[in-house]
Amino acid sequence: MAVRCSSWHENPDGSTVCDECGEPLTGGSASAQAGETTGARAPGTQRCLSCNATNPEGEVFCTNCGAKLG
Ligand SMILES: [Zn+2]
Ligand SMILES: [Zn+2]
Repeated sequence: MAVRCSSWHENPDGSTVCDECGEPLTGGSASAQAGETTGARAPGTQRCLSCNATNPEGEVFCTNCGAKLG
């Protein structure tokens, strides 16, 4: 499942900010899967230089603060 912002950018389920335009996303998907492991370092991730949040590899914008990655 994907989360869409008001501009209909698709974001990975669980994103809090659109990774394309940085718009805050409101959760509420009924089929949200519990798979978030805070603190665990997963492979294939990149760290936000702005807020130090971990984002999935390939993201353009930080899902936490909306800063551009890379
Ligand atoms: Zn967007
Ligand atoms: Zn960030």
